[in-house]
Amino acid sequence: MTAHAWRSNPARRPLPSRSVAPLRSVEGRDAASPATATVLLRPEVLRTISVGVARAGDDETGGPFFGTVQRTWDGDRYCFVAALLGTLPPGSAVAGGPGSVGLGARGDGERAASALRWLRETTGLELLHCGDWHRHPFGSPQPSGGDQRTAREMWELTASALWLTAIAVDDVASEQNAGAEGNAVTLSRRQRLEQEVRFYQECGPRGLVPVRVRIDAETSPKLPPLPWYVLDPARFAAECRLLLAGCFRPALQPLLPGARPAVILRLERDGGDPLTVETGLRHPYEEPLVRDARGHRIRLRTPWSPERFIVDLLGEAE
Ligand SMILES: [Zn+2]
Repeated sequence: MTAHAWRSNPARRPLPSRSVAPLRSVEGRDAASPATATVLLRPEVLRTISVGVARAGDDETGGPFFGTVQRTWDGDRYCFVAALLGTLPPGSAVAGGPGSVGLGARGDGERAASALRWLRETTGLELLHCGDWHRHPFGSPQPSGGDQRTAREMWELTASALWLTAIAVDDVASEQNAGAEGNAVTLSRRQRLEQEVRFYQECGPRGLVPVRVRIDAETSPKLPPLPWYVLDPARFAAECRLLLAGCFRPALQPLLPGARPAVILRLERDGGDPLTVETGLRHPYEEPLVRDARGHRIRLRTPWSPERFIVDLLGEAE
């Protein structure tokens, strides 16, 4: 078993809470002994963790939990219900090695912050960064000393009413059979992937305590998929760089509440009216819609293809 350290990263901070009142202030809570939670987990979150773990090879990896936290009366006292509604597929900025992973540093932190902001904007939910998950590639699903320290640090910093840590472990069992008959040799190999994710809550002096978890596809709200500029920041940087070189100043336009989730870029330019470009969440695999300053759609003369960039369309919109 590999010695495991969940590297405590001094750059790590919980993602900022909305400027309107957070669910609960850090000062107002009983930091010594928070009530334990029941965790409701959206199946999409589990799938994202599962794919992230399967792609990580022998390395650690991880991501944030975005969710809501509510109190519920159990007839005797209040306890928490934490609904984990979203996470982020591990990006290239997640610094994972065989024995540690650093989350939230530099590009990874910005990506997580923009994901949380976009999800709040489009859903209207008071989503919080209320925990993290990470993988132990060769270890046990028990929290290490480093995990305990990181959870304690995050619990002291977060505005969420609780802090959850989830640890994913996985194993591949393979079975191989060989046989020979006449002039034929047969070989069959079966592989089975076993994954397990254990959930813990930071509980002050008691450290990380196991919490009950339930997969919930019925009562917890389903979040829309994340937009391309969050999932593919390199493409977004390339689009913006090309637009600036073409004398367009791009800015993300906030979405109206309840509007169809899309990524709308407002493009200011010298000596011309601003344009807007609406891209789908899967850009560049959907055709962008270009509109003039009055909101009228500008039809393009040439067909869109994923090899093209937004700036290529704008020559046609003059
Ligand atoms: Zn760990």
